[in-house]
Amino acid sequence: MSVMTQSVPLVDLTAQYESIRLEIDAAIQSVIARTAFIMGPDVREFEKHFAEYCTSTYAVGVASGTAALELTLRACNIGAGDEVITSAHTFIATAEAISAVGARPVFVEIDPRTYNIDPDAVAAAITPATRAIIPVHIYGQPADMDRIMAIAERHNLAVIEDAAQAHGATWNGKRVGAIGHAACFSFYPGKNLGAYGDAGAVTTNDARIAELVSLLRNHGRHSKYLHDIKGYGERIDTLQAAILLAKLRHLAKWTAHRQRIAARYDELLADLDGEIVLPYVHPAAEAVWHLYVVRTPRRDALLGHLNRSGVGAGIHYPTPLHLQPAYADLGYALGDLPVTEAVADTCLSLPIYPEMTDAQQEYVVATIRSFFDV
Ligand SMILES: *Cc1c(COP(=O)(O)O)cnc(C)c1O
Repeated sequence: MSVMTQSVPLVDLTAQYESIRLEIDAAIQSVIARTAFIMGPDVREFEKHFAEYCTSTYAVGVASGTAALELTLRACNIGAGDEVITSAHTFIATAEAISAVGARPVFVEIDPRTYNIDPDAVAAAITPATRAIIPVHIYGQPADMDRIMAIAERHNLAVIEDAAQAHGATWNGKRVGAIGHAACFSFYPGKNLGAYGDAGAVTTNDARIAELVSLLRNHGRHSKYLHDIKGYGERIDTLQAAILLAKLRHLAKWTAHRQRIAARYDELLADLDGEIVLPYVHPAAEAVWHLYVVRTPRRDALLGHLNRSGVGAGIHYPTPLHLQPAYADLGYALGDLPVTEAVADTCLSLPIYPEMTDAQQEYVVATIRSFFDV
């Protein structure tokens, strides 16, 4: 097979916009025509449909995934002196939110196959100061929520799902966003459901958490100038809510496309077993493939080869949080989380997005094969 050089980005937001341009433009125009820029019916409508999508009782739109995490921690009354257990193999926002409320992130190991937080490591890290666990559904595959919920129940801890990469994923048939006490979603443009700017949401079945997050996002007020608690200006932008509502109608189809592309990578790369480790999905999980991540000891060389050939591969994430300069104050050192560190050194994200064509995927695969000379 001769494959012409082409360029395949890691994600292609333009291709997606082209496929739904009329709906998006109409949604934006309708908000502008009504000059209804802050809160209002578009936000309520999006929240209603997003809660339905997650099978949760409530969804509260906020300004970003980071805001979702911080406001949820506040709503769970977590603050100074408290410890929150999470993994170091995630985007820094997970830990920043813990720090922002004055609590201490406690980083524990991940499972070497799923890259999700290891429930045994969670149990081992619990102290009298532990108040919550934040499992991150990394790359779109849910963490082991049965075991995490059981540990939390035994120790009376809150479970806040970081579902920023996992819209619609399921664990034992249950949708993320409706398993923990609350879940935090990001609609950053490149996420599986992406806005055209920053946005996020908190889902929960707990009326008290939903009420507190809605108060906190909007300056702690029920009425215009009466503020019950000290809050934040972290509302979801109404234009973004209108765009997200339009895009939500396509999410199930887009997820199916991602799953098909992931299955095809599995197939086309199967014989490279030994050179690269393909993703492993736990039998209880249905993954939504925010990222398709392989591992190889020759990661940096393969990444260079792909990038030089026009393939937008990436690394998620090259430096684990316990080794970030920003977290030097916590006193972790290289070697503290060997599985996490090994994954960070060898992981490579291949392009995956719903609009990716078979030809593009074949080009990515051919480029990988030429690197390994097979
Ligand atoms: C994207 C992301 C966030 C932060 O979301 P923002 O909307 O960018 O603030 C948090 N956690 C994880 C795992 C993410 O991937």
